Amino acid sequence: MDKRNLTLTGIAVALLAAATVYYFTRSGAQARMPSKVSVNCACLACRKFVGVDAKITDPKPFTCPLCGQRAAYPLLMCRDCGAYFVPNLERSPDGEFPQMPMAPSCPKCGSRNVGAYVGREPIPADKLILPKWPQ
Ligand SMILES: [Zn+2]
Ligand SMILES: [Zn+2]
Repeated sequence: MDKRNLTLTGIAVALLAAATVYYFTRSGAQARMPSKVSVNCACLACRKFVGVDAKITDPKPFTCPLCGQRAAYPLLMCRDCGAYFVPNLERSPDGEFPQMPMAPSCPKCGSRNVGAYVGREPIPADKLILPKWPQ
């Protein structure tokens, strides 16, 4: 191997190392960013089911992609009676937007056996039980 080939090999190795560092730096940066997820919500302003691309850390309510108002709350479902609903909201201490209660209960049967609706099917508007809006 002559000198020229050695130099070229050196450059190739340096480039590969740089690319590797770049790759890891980038993927590391992405891992630190909270990634957006699609959240099943109901918009209290337009009274419809909406899928909202939001970060976990975004304050609720989310901005509705249909009407642009900050009135989209995560949709819950009752595991006992199958109702789809947003629970009655509570005034937040700082007063800007009402918030979901910590321990919501089903507005139809009163059960506390409720959780986030994580299905893929949109829920028709006439099946949603929503509190009045604006509060
Ligand atoms: Zn809306
Ligand atoms: Zn229920």
